[in-house]
Amino acid sequence: MKKPTIAVIGSSSMDLVVSSDKRPQAGETVLGKAFDTVPGGKGANQAVAAARLGADVYMIGCVGEDTYGEEITANLKKNGVRTDYVEPVTHERSGTAHIILAEGDNSIVVVKGANDHVTPEYIEKAEELLKNSDLVMIQQEVPEETVVHAAELCSRYGVPLLLNPAPARPVPEVVLDQVSYVTPNEHEAAVLFGGLALSEVLQAHQNKLFITEGAAGVRYHNGRQEVLVPSFPVKAVDTTGAGDTFNAAFAVAIAEGKEMEESLRFANRAASLSVTGFGAQGGMPSRQSVEEGLE
Ligand code: ADP
Repeated sequence: MKKPTIAVIGSSSMDLVVSSDKRPQAGETVLGKAFDTVPGGKGANQAVAAARLGADVYMIGCVGEDTYGEEITANLKKNGVRTDYVEPVTHERSGTAHIILAEGDNSIVVVKGANDHVTPEYIEKAEELLKNSDLVMIQQEVPEETVVHAAELCSRYGVPLLLNPAPARPVPEVVLDQVSYVTPNEHEAAVLFGGLALSEVLQAHQNKLFITEGAAGVRYHNGRQEVLVPSFPVKAVDTTGAGDTFNAAFAVAIAEGKEMEESLRFANRAASLSVTGFGAQGGMPSRQSVEEGLE
């Protein structure tokens, strides 16, 4: 089978993770136990997951003019993601997430940095690639006008666009009309369709809206009825990146021409495996392990 080409328009960042017994109060200094840097960002995570699952993946994004930018780009390359459209932005820092793990919980400060430079004009540089892709993916860690423009471009070229509306932010009606697939989790679905009954919303967006429900799986309307496609029981150790793996796997399966329900089972299997490993990218499975799990 020919590998499908997938373009991912999205964020990339470096997570700066410190663990400590105690969370500092305002004005307080505490001693931490460990510090680590981990590449992240929903766009980069989804690109890495799709590449591990066997697609030809291009990242369209921006990094800072700093060493994190070099590390982010090197990590994408190491995972087989093409970085022809990953550019350093002059006088800008890479996106960062500053994470404190303490007292059994995390607190996070996100600085968007170069990710705000993934503008409508910027993605036009990759117009030829977008036109020739089997599927395009985008999330909401880039400016809203970029999501609007990507939806417009993809609909003009007849290329399917998968919008993962994370983090939660309302999506313009015109975008919902133009995209092929929308994949909120339950919280994001509430923000997108607040106040409306989800069964009716699913019925109104048949084979387009897929609401992920954690360990329970994913819900959609297949044109005849509403269906919950169950995930696979696993021992979850870290659910960070479950949604990213789900989206990437769903995109790869659809781009390969798999049927809807089969694609959702493939996505559930990949995402369930991802929660058995630590870190967003750390748990992302290979093609082979997903296929073995589906036998
Ligand atoms: P997000 O990570 O974006 O919040 P969800 O929590 O809905 O999204 O998880 C996305 C998908 O990951 C689910 O639809 C499911 O396939 C899989 N998943 C998540 N948590 C588990 C779990 N504990 N066991 C099995 N599968 C899971």
